[in-house]
Amino acid sequence: VKERGKNDYMIFNQQMEHQSLERRLLENALRQGIREQQFYLEYQPKVNMTSNKLMGMEALVRWNHPELGIISPGKFIPLAEESGLIVPLGEWILRESCRQASAWGALDVPPLTLSVNISVRQLVDRDFVDKLKTILQETGLNPRRLELEITESVLANIKSTIPILKEIKKLGIQISIDDFGTGYSSLSYIKELPIDTLKIDQSFVKDIHTNKESKEIAKAIINLASSIGLNVIAEGIELEEHVDELSKDGCILGQGYFYSRPLKVEAFEDYMTTNQES
Ligand code: C2E
Ligand code: CA
Ligand code: CA
Ligand code: CA
Repeated sequence: VKERGKNDYMIFNQQMEHQSLERRLLENALRQGIREQQFYLEYQPKVNMTSNKLMGMEALVRWNHPELGIISPGKFIPLAEESGLIVPLGEWILRESCRQASAWGALDVPPLTLSVNISVRQLVDRDFVDKLKTILQETGLNPRRLELEITESVLANIKSTIPILKEIKKLGIQISIDDFGTGYSSLSYIKELPIDTLKIDQSFVKDIHTNKESKEIAKAIINLASSIGLNVIAEGIELEEHVDELSKDGCILGQGYFYSRPLKVEAFEDYMTTNQES
């Protein structure tokens, strides 16, 4: 038994070393990737589900590694958060998306809102608000056209995050709670947070037309939002049935493959022009 325990321990230890080696490699690759600008942004339309009009877009980061190819954010964002590299990466994402949105704003299109995902790690960085101001100045983007998407994980640091969120709101920027309903939802905190929008997580949207629980949860979020004066949007809209169910319950804004996948700059520009005519 003792021998076996020792063996297990060694195997476990080797696996751990292997994992941490892999992590270190990936972390170095991430650092180099930031230096060498291997990242780019895609934009996914946010649509008024009643009129089908384009209302805005969410910036989603992509990593095009020279050897490994495209790596999804689900893989590298958690590592970027743990290592702190999300701070410089996130600053680039914010600057680049604001620059792009500002350039688009100059085109003959109706004013759209740009949504950018912000990790808590970025939010609590002492320079965040100053950087935000600088980026708005540099890019000339109207702060009212900018929305930051944060997750309920801000609630874990609520004491330090509320004052920061209040400063951000004072700049005229909007704040949305992403993946609403999946996190640390203590509803009493919702009224303490200076937020504008609740974003219904795609896990409730996916089977809203077949699953009673999902349907009721989505409905409860929509009702909660409207009763305390917040906007609501649903993500992960893939089917006409999703549109129907959500619209019936009073959710007007949506985002998902049913309307469009996240698009590269040129493809998004095509989407903007064709959508304008409808
Ligand atoms: P998220 O913020 O919840 O973004 C929504 C994710 O759902 C995106 O995945 C999007 O491509 C995907 N999606 C959109 N419509 C549909 C649909 O109809 N069906 C399905 N099944 N999926 C849909 P993506 O781009 O892989 O991003 C994954 C996560 O990585 C994001 O989740 C966000 O948490 C994080 N992330 C992405 N870009 C950034 C960024 O710039 N900064 C930070 N901090 N996090 C980011
Ligand atoms: Ca998001
Ligand atoms: Ca989300
Ligand atoms: Ca998500």
